[in-house]
Amino acid sequence: MLSEAKKTKSKDNFKWHSKSTLPKTPVIKETWDLKGLYYKSGKDPQIEVDIKAAELAYTNFSKKWSARDFLASATALKQALTEYEELAGLPEVGRPGRYFSLRQSLNVNDADANRQLSLLSKRLRKASDQILFFSLKLGKAPPDLQKRYLADETLTHFHYFLEQLWLGAKYHLSEAEEKIIRLKSRQSSGMWADAVEKIISNRQIVWKGKPLHLPVALETLELLKTKDKIALWDKLMTEMEKVGEMAEHEMNAIILDARGEDELRGYKKPYSATALAYEDDEKSIENLTHAVRTRGYKLSREFYKLKASYHKVPALHYVQKYETIGRELNISFKEAVDICRDVFYSVKEEYGVVFDTMLKRGQIDVFSQGGKRGGAFMSSDVGHPTHVFLNHVSNFKSLETLAHEMGHAIHAERSKKQTSFYEGHSIITAETASTLFENLVFDAVFNTVSDRDKLTLLHDRITRDIATIERQVAFFDCELEMHNTIEQKGAMESKEMAECMQKHLKAYLGAGVLVEPKDGYSYVYIPHLRYGFYVYSYAYGILMSTIMANHYKADHSYVEQIDQFLSAGGSASVGDIFKSIGIDTKREDTFLKALDNQAKDIATFKQMLKKFK
Ligand SMILES: [Zn+2]
Repeated sequence: MLSEAKKTKSKDNFKWHSKSTLPKTPVIKETWDLKGLYYKSGKDPQIEVDIKAAELAYTNFSKKWSARDFLASATALKQALTEYEELAGLPEVGRPGRYFSLRQSLNVNDADANRQLSLLSKRLRKASDQILFFSLKLGKAPPDLQKRYLADETLTHFHYFLEQLWLGAKYHLSEAEEKIIRLKSRQSSGMWADAVEKIISNRQIVWKGKPLHLPVALETLELLKTKDKIALWDKLMTEMEKVGEMAEHEMNAIILDARGEDELRGYKKPYSATALAYEDDEKSIENLTHAVRTRGYKLSREFYKLKASYHKVPALHYVQKYETIGRELNISFKEAVDICRDVFYSVKEEYGVVFDTMLKRGQIDVFSQGGKRGGAFMSSDVGHPTHVFLNHVSNFKSLETLAHEMGHAIHAERSKKQTSFYEGHSIITAETASTLFENLVFDAVFNTVSDRDKLTLLHDRITRDIATIERQVAFFDCELEMHNTIEQKGAMESKEMAECMQKHLKAYLGAGVLVEPKDGYSYVYIPHLRYGFYVYSYAYGILMSTIMANHYKADHSYVEQIDQFLSAGGSASVGDIFKSIGIDTKREDTFLKALDNQAKDIATFKQMLKKFK
């Protein structure tokens, strides 16, 4: 990776000209200030003080409410729920764990953080087990009592919380069974995935005479010329096929564990638990996936035929699917900050202020360094500072990533208006906020570059959108087929899983891309396939944000609805939050129409290609 200084010297450096007068850029701290925001070090005595305070709070709540009938009256229930919400928002409960896990992200080899985190989670699990009785007993309230309390004005603030709890309570088991499930969950699922991830991380291949770890090889792919890319991909897939021996058992274990728990709890469909956890509903998941599988797949297949003809081949190699078609814009971090500030401030002043504050206080960790995890993420929690984690390099993708993660951060910060129960939000509204800001920043830059650069940017946006929409639905279908097959046949072999993956990749890529049997072994290293249908959230998020961006572009006063959405946190179901800003997620039509933008982009791309042939 080139250093920042070296890159900014390049002649092609992109220059942003601000269109508005903004407050002066703050002095930026480019690394997380964990000392200032959390603890002085892992030995800070305050850590033990906080853990003790958390343990005591759980014990006190348990002592007080396990002996009382908090369901006896609305007033008693209100009192108990108020204290339960306070406990949920107690900063001491989350602070030590947050500190050590942020440290882990900065340095995966931080053995002290790993050890402390594991000890801490054991202590906190024991402490929080003490209050399990509360939600379980609450969940068992008789239906007529539920009905009465959901209409009681004393409990207005808790209505949505109670509604969700009672919806989920139908699937609760006994207290003893719930404790066993909690106790066994890591070793029956999470640790299997960790094992495969570790095997992949430690395995090396020889590339051009030098050893290369598999994750590094995967990241290197996009930087290579086509011929090399194909050669390296071949080597990688040969390795993945070998790791498949282990991944086969991992996937069977994870899926059997999920199917078994679903059966115990009485969930009907493999994604029923996901719908409930995401505060979504099965119908909306089915509408979305169906819309993408039909209209979406037609679009992605059409695009890949166009791309193949641009590259003058009958069909692209699978690993060429993201291969760009022009020069890369060189955008330094400073330039990226200027662009984002300009866009955020112009949408709404408060969004610019969130960004400036995070830059100033050391809440954004910008550049890669030895031991730092790869990728990018945003992390937020009730009662704690919000953090953005980046591995910024001077290119357009890093600019998009900054805008994306800041979209998450602005969502988290605006939702701090809500109380502890409602400050968090569903995973599917999360990806709406991030892609919304990503798209606004994209448009701002797109409008200022030459036509040839426009062609490249448009191409890259279409491939990215297809990867977010159609590809994730293909993953969803693949995961669903694995669940159903294992349920019916008892197990699936690695080769069958690869074939399943290949089939679904072919479905969205079409004839423009040659998907071979070995490409199916990519199931081995894609962690998202282990998250229980999480993949659909990406497609959901970007389709919703497209609708919102269209409204906003047509009429800037729609920013008030956008802000209403961003400030809503998890105070209502996803469907109701969208309904309140005029978007109906109960109709397949909504998702079909949201694909209009992709159709338009592909048509524009087709037009522009003629000009540059
Ligand atoms: Zn995201």
